[in-house]
Amino acid sequence: MVSGESPSIVLSYEHAASVVRRQAARVLADAATRNVERVAIEAATGRVLAEPVIADRDQPPFARATRDGFACRSADLRAGGLRVVGQLRAGEAWTLGALRPGEAVEIMTGAAVPPGADCVVMVEHVVVVEGHVSLAGPRDLAQGENIVPAGAEARLGDVVIPAGRRVGVAEIAAAVACGVAELPVFARPHVAILATGDELVDVKEVPLAHQIRNSNSYSLAAQVSAAGGEPEVFPVVRDDEAATERAIREASSCDLVLLTGGVSMGKFDFVEQALLVLGAEFFFTGARIQPGKPVVFGKLADTYFFGLPGNPISTMVTFALFAAPLLRAFGGESEGEPRFRMARVEEEVQVKPGLTRFLPARIESHFRGARVRRVGWQGSGDLAAAARANGFLVVPETVERVAVGEIVTVLEI
Ligand code: AMP
Ligand code: MG
Repeated sequence: MVSGESPSIVLSYEHAASVVRRQAARVLADAATRNVERVAIEAATGRVLAEPVIADRDQPPFARATRDGFACRSADLRAGGLRVVGQLRAGEAWTLGALRPGEAVEIMTGAAVPPGADCVVMVEHVVVVEGHVSLAGPRDLAQGENIVPAGAEARLGDVVIPAGRRVGVAEIAAAVACGVAELPVFARPHVAILATGDELVDVKEVPLAHQIRNSNSYSLAAQVSAAGGEPEVFPVVRDDEAATERAIREASSCDLVLLTGGVSMGKFDFVEQALLVLGAEFFFTGARIQPGKPVVFGKLADTYFFGLPGNPISTMVTFALFAAPLLRAFGGESEGEPRFRMARVEEEVQVKPGLTRFLPARIESHFRGARVRRVGWQGSGDLAAAARANGFLVVPETVERVAVGEIVTVLEI
């Protein structure tokens, strides 16, 4: 960490990621910084659980039949026909006491298996003649067949969902099964978004020939929301050192500050300089990646910041690689790593080694594994290519060539 002098700390992708991971672990451990709010289960998808969800009774609460058929003692049925003494539907309570030898109960999926029965034989495997049920043919009958015992899935008091878990479909269902209609979740962290650049105009304005629409503020807001944050988009900052300092100072009450543009070596790139004057500490000022090489990460007093390169694809990639994991930690999410997965390459890839590449690519999901192929691009400003892509093919720093059929890592945004 350097402060007070112009730093140059350029790290490999892995090293830079480990620096972010270390800070994210600190943020995650500092639970005092997070507020908790309660949300209705209907509005909880995507939020992060602040407390574990606990089973309020055994699951299943009774020995559950998992097939339509006949509940009986397996040894009895192996020996011969059984008298059918009743019928049990899901949601119906059995009141006739324990099953006696020679008896069976017709039972439906989801019903509570009566005491005394140790298996449910499927209706497809039996014949019923004059109130007596017997096996339709030779068949092994195991004890416990087609029954989930009470408490086999979870016991009263067990943690069914740990705190720190992002709520998805399974968590919604599991919470409801525990009787939870309102979930305690962490408040969304506030993220300042500051785009810098004299050439930028808003999407609602008509750009002059030499002007560029400010897409980064919008794409970053979308990425921040997707990572569980509350975006606060600030007005565009002009390429002026004093204006940049002022804007950073105003934004630094947020949990995290994201700047875009102005981090390269140009005469009018003031972001690093402004941060330095304000007394920032820098963890790194570049990473050996493409796109996104000039990415900056540091801390200004208690506020973390990223200076993301202004080229729109660089902005999205560096957010996904570095800012998203830190942001997820601010949100209390315990699994914050970038969204990497594996895919098989469909077309040879050749690059110059020395930088970890994140190449816009089209990833197709398949049951037997994903496939990936590059999309053509004109470099990191090519938003049309980004729209053709749905992820990035990763080529590590030391690799020059990836052959057809090789398995590679892909980054999903
Ligand atoms: P910079 O990082 O400021 O040198 O900008 C690099 C390139 O990205 C330039 O072509 C800029 O016009 C473009 N750019 C910078 N900021 C934005 C933005 N907010 N939205 C779209 N393009 C941008
Ligand atoms: Mg600029």
